[in-house]
Amino acid sequence: MERPRVVFLGTGGALNPERYQAAMLVQAAGTSFLLDVGGGLGVVRRLLACEVDPLSVRHVFLSHRHLDHVGGLEPLLMYMFYAAYRTGAPPPPVDVHALAASSAAIRASLAAADASADAVFGERLKWRTPAPNSSVGVDGGATLTLVPVDHLPPGGEAAACVVSAGGARVVYSGDTRPCEALVEAARGADLLIHEVGGTDARAELLHRVGHSTAADAGRVAAKAGVRALAMFHTPAPMWVSPEDMLAEARRHAPGVEVFLSEDGMRWEP
Ligand SMILES: [Zn+2]
Repeated sequence: MERPRVVFLGTGGALNPERYQAAMLVQAAGTSFLLDVGGGLGVVRRLLACEVDPLSVRHVFLSHRHLDHVGGLEPLLMYMFYAAYRTGAPPPPVDVHALAASSAAIRASLAAADASADAVFGERLKWRTPAPNSSVGVDGGATLTLVPVDHLPPGGEAAACVVSAGGARVVYSGDTRPCEALVEAARGADLLIHEVGGTDARAELLHRVGHSTAADAGRVAAKAGVRALAMFHTPAPMWVSPEDMLAEARRHAPGVEVFLSEDGMRWEP
C-alpha cells in the first residue's frame, strides 16, 4: 500500500503575508487528503502551482474553526464544482472530517455566509464527525484518526490528525499548545507536522493564544520519538527569524530530523 507523501501547500501563520495559510496535501493509498485549507482561494492556487488537480481531493480534514484553517473550504469546493461542471460531470465525492463541535461551528458560519457548496454537492459532500481518538478507514485502506488538542476557543474541539497507510504515519498538529495527547498520537511516527508561533522568548504570549514555541515542538517530537519534525504556521520574519526557530527546535530534539516546511516543499517516507 502506498505510504503517505506530503506536499506542504501553505505553511504560514494567520498573519504572515509571505506564505500561504495552513494547508497540507497528503497522498496515501491511492487517495488524497487535504489537512486544513487555508483561507480564500489560496489552497486552489497552491494545488495548481504544485501540479495537483484540485478535483483529485477526496478527503478534507479541518483541525478547528479559525478562518486561517477553514476559510478556503467554500472556494475550494466551488472551484471543484465548476471544474467538473465544465466537463458535464457531477462534482466529485468529498468527505469533510472534523470533531463534532468544530464541524457544527464551521457549518454554521458557512450558512451565515450564504455559502453554496452544501447545496450544489448534495449527497456527494459528506460531513464526517468521527469519535475522538478512533481510527476510521477511508478508501484504499488508509486510516484517519482525529485527536483532541489544546487550542482556542476553550472547548472548541481543535484536533490533530493522524494519517496512516502502508505502515507509515504522518501526524498533523493543527493549532495547539504543547500537548500530551499529541505526544501519544505521534509516538514513533514517520513525520510530525507541528505548528510553531515563535521561540521561547515569547512563550507566555504564544501559550496564552493557544500556540507552541519551537522548543515545545522539539520537545513533543523528542518525547514521541518521531523520525522527522516539520514545523509550520510560521510567523512573518519581522517577529522571529526562521533560523532561530530551527536552531531552538533542534536543541530540544536531538536525533530527530528537524526542518522548517516551505510552501511547495515535498516530503516522502
Ligand atoms: Zn492558525
